[in-house]
Amino acid sequence: MSLITCAFCKGRGKDPFNLLSKLATCQVCGGTGKVEVKEPAIECAYCKGTGVYPYGSRITCTVCNGKGMVTVKGTTERCPKCRGTGQAIGSGLSCIKCGGKGVVRKKEEA
Ligand SMILES: [Zn+2]
Ligand SMILES: [Zn+2]
Ligand SMILES: [Zn+2]
Repeated sequence: MSLITCAFCKGRGKDPFNLLSKLATCQVCGGTGKVEVKEPAIECAYCKGTGVYPYGSRITCTVCNGKGMVTVKGTTERCPKCRGTGQAIGSGLSCIKCGGKGVVRKKEEA
């Protein structure tokens, strides 16, 4: 595990959109400004590491849960279906093949 700066609130510990009140704590890190991710982790392709759901709505990214980083295991390669964007073409949903991470496990490594 490693401790990273919360992407959703950028480490401020407050709700970045002031949805409830100006003093609302960030729902992702609980106000600490830091979140734990399991190593090895890469930047979330779906939200491009911002932790924010890429289609408005001011909610946390559904792939990384607002952390901005996702855990990947083993040797990976760019997802051929979404070409590494993590997004299903034209739908706004996360890619089914890679789950929004933008990478898939390399085939040779069974
Ligand atoms: Zn936070
Ligand atoms: Zn994300
Ligand atoms: Zn994909």
